[in-house]
Amino acid sequence: MTNHHHHRLSHHFRISDGDGFRLDQIDPADTLHFHPSDKQAAATALAEGVERMAELQDKLYAQDRWAVLLVFQAMDAAGKDGTIKHVMSGVNPQGCQVSSFKAPSAVDLDHDFLWRANQCLPERGRIGIFNRSYYEETLVVRVHPEILARQTLPPELVGDAIWSERFRDIRHYEDYLARNGVVVRKFFLHVSKHEQKRRFLERLEKPEKNWKFSAADIRERSYWAQYMEAYEQMIRHTATQHSPWYVVPADHKWFTRLVVADAVIDALESLNLAYPVVSEQARQALAEAHRQLLEE
Ligand code: ATP
Ligand code: MG
Repeated sequence: MTNHHHHRLSHHFRISDGDGFRLDQIDPADTLHFHPSDKQAAATALAEGVERMAELQDKLYAQDRWAVLLVFQAMDAAGKDGTIKHVMSGVNPQGCQVSSFKAPSAVDLDHDFLWRANQCLPERGRIGIFNRSYYEETLVVRVHPEILARQTLPPELVGDAIWSERFRDIRHYEDYLARNGVVVRKFFLHVSKHEQKRRFLERLEKPEKNWKFSAADIRERSYWAQYMEAYEQMIRHTATQHSPWYVVPADHKWFTRLVVADAVIDALESLNLAYPVVSEQARQALAEAHRQLLEE
């Protein structure tokens, strides 16, 4: 992807100041200069990106200083799972951990809403992936007020300001993470309602895809407009310079993967990663070990 060095693919979709952001600025079917029929060019670019990512991850791990947190949010069938699988296919599994956030358990609900996510943060030197995240607290919980009612918060703390308060809490949390060396990058895979329908039909019509379909998916689809409104608000209020959102066109899976890979590479390259420098003393010890092995 070196040819995009001066104008990276992912920069077209990066929102680092949410003020005035509108979801309709980004076309879910966009593929920029890649032509949908030229899948070979895209596959080559992705393979190069995956290789570059592996090099960078090796340094990230060796340097053991920064952690990277990649947050994925999307409507059902937008391609979160496939994107995570493809983009991370080249990285060393030891340096990478994926956490999926489903409906919270009773224990989770007995704590503040960031509690369960905080336990899953990547260690230094690692890449952590959140497949859904604490952002659900401003999405599904906002679209379905009955979920908020079940959270058993003190009633006097649940008012009209709750969403702006949650956005502020999340911004501050991400500031805190940035100041602790956790580099946060957030991805909203933006699929169109039309393409979701096509993918749902495929899941229903192909037996080997049936397992991916759940009746709840159709129910959530009927709240499409409310979800888009919640996503737009979320991006407006939580896209910042150090924790940007990428609103990634998701009607073409191959393009989604290219953009996400490019954004991850961009994040890693911004860190000036380097292998730890070996001290003179350690170098002498290595030379001694080398000599001993040769003499064995
Ligand atoms: P799949 O691709 O396998 O369907 P998924 O991420 O959709 O993966 P599901 O088990 O289908 O997984 O759904 C998880 C559900 O958990 C989603 O509907 C999501 O909205 C819900 N969820 C996640 N976090 C919360 C939360 N904090 N409060 C309430 N519901 C949540
Ligand atoms: Mg699902």
